[in-house]
Amino acid sequence: MSLEVPPSAQPHCAVHPDVLAGGTCSRCGGFICADCVRTPLGSERIFCVACSLRPEVDYLEAFRLEYWGRRDSWAWTVGMLTLSLLLGVFVSLASGGQPTRKDLLLSALLLASVPVGGAFFLGKSWARHLLVATPFLLALGAGVVEPAQRFNHLLSAIPFTFAAVLIHRDVRTRLFFRQPVTPGALRAMWNRLRNNPIARQAFHFGFSSLLMPLLSPIAVVCGVVGLMRVNPRAHPPIGRRGQAIAGIVLGVVSPLLWVFVLNYLDQRFGLVRKD
Ligand SMILES: [Zn+2]
Ligand SMILES: [Zn+2]
Repeated sequence: MSLEVPPSAQPHCAVHPDVLAGGTCSRCGGFICADCVRTPLGSERIFCVACSLRPEVDYLEAFRLEYWGRRDSWAWTVGMLTLSLLLGVFVSLASGGQPTRKDLLLSALLLASVPVGGAFFLGKSWARHLLVATPFLLALGAGVVEPAQRFNHLLSAIPFTFAAVLIHRDVRTRLFFRQPVTPGALRAMWNRLRNNPIARQAFHFGFSSLLMPLLSPIAVVCGVVGLMRVNPRAHPPIGRRGQAIAGIVLGVVSPLLWVFVLNYLDQRFGLVRKD
């Protein structure tokens, strides 16, 4: 008689019924095989694939959902610029007396960009792409209306196109438009916005205090607060210990450095009158 448990009685993966399970998901308790096991960043527990993507397990997923479809500052900027353009065109047409044919054509051209800006504000994904081409298309149109100014019009479209390309690539803006972003880009954005920002500020203030010693108390305070927030075992882990310490050190060193330099200059050149 054998005590061995027959394979059919052993637990199998919930997703792959012909593969033996190696453990259970710590959230739903389902059996998982080696292929299905997931350990999300900042977690020491194991999860099944479905649970590993849940916001309470994956902080990056929670972070993504927080910004998903939420209007960002670029959308507000584009929206406000579009509104001012609309008002500007109407005010200039209303106040300038009898508009010439050229004025009307240029105004019509500017107004043609209003739907693009409006749709961008409303989060229509076609507007995100069209915004990149809009400055160049407007410049081409203006060049047809004013052939003598064609070169200047094209030249002035360059900075706007450049800005539009930056907006098109912006991760935060992609989230507003409900576009997929890579985990790496999402992590970089999380790191910038959520990973102990006060420690990063401490470093910036500390560095600036080398030139402006009045900033050094702010650097030290931010550094101490930032240092207290560091917790690599938290979920998600909070880092930037190095930047917090650098902020404190720079904040302490910079006034000493200034005292030393002023003292040296005083002895060398007699900046402070002795009598
Ligand atoms: Zn699970
Ligand atoms: Zn499996």
